[in-house]
Amino acid sequence: MNDKPIDIKCPDCGELSKFEEPFKFLSSRKIHPDETRPVHRWGSWRVLERFPSKISWKPPSGSSQFLRSGGDSGYAGYPLLTNGLVLCSHCHSNRKHKLNWPIDAYWQWEIRGKLLWAWDKEHAEAILNYIKQTSRPTRRSYCLRYIPSHFLSAKVRELVVQRIERSFNC
Ligand SMILES: [Zn+2]
Repeated sequence: MNDKPIDIKCPDCGELSKFEEPFKFLSSRKIHPDETRPVHRWGSWRVLERFPSKISWKPPSGSSQFLRSGGDSGYAGYPLLTNGLVLCSHCHSNRKHKLNWPIDAYWQWEIRGKLLWAWDKEHAEAILNYIKQTSRPTRRSYCLRYIPSHFLSAKVRELVVQRIERSFNC
């Protein structure tokens, strides 16, 4: 599982900060014998606490042992990108944070009333490069496939490119 942090607006100071998923879900084979952080067994998963001093593992209620994408909507399983840790290099905030996506996204642009967002700078650059192209290749990668088509029309292209470029410069 990917444990790359995502870029959010710090809930304390509003600057660029990182949201970290607090657990790593692995198979038992992937646990290094020298691992010193706490590891818990959850169904067929081994759950590694990435920040044991901040957030410890508590299995979700219910017997379903699977991962699902974010949102605390009362469904079974463990929701990724929901409860995590914010790490801010500006105000040194380092605490639990419940993600509210895409409201929390650092890289976000309101284009004619609709919100376009990116997970991090690299993703924002990928979106920008894609949108700039006049003849676009098939969107193979997952991170481009999600882009709603209203951001891709020729009519808004200039505007989208301008907005994304502006946020790189400030
Ligand atoms: Zn901050």
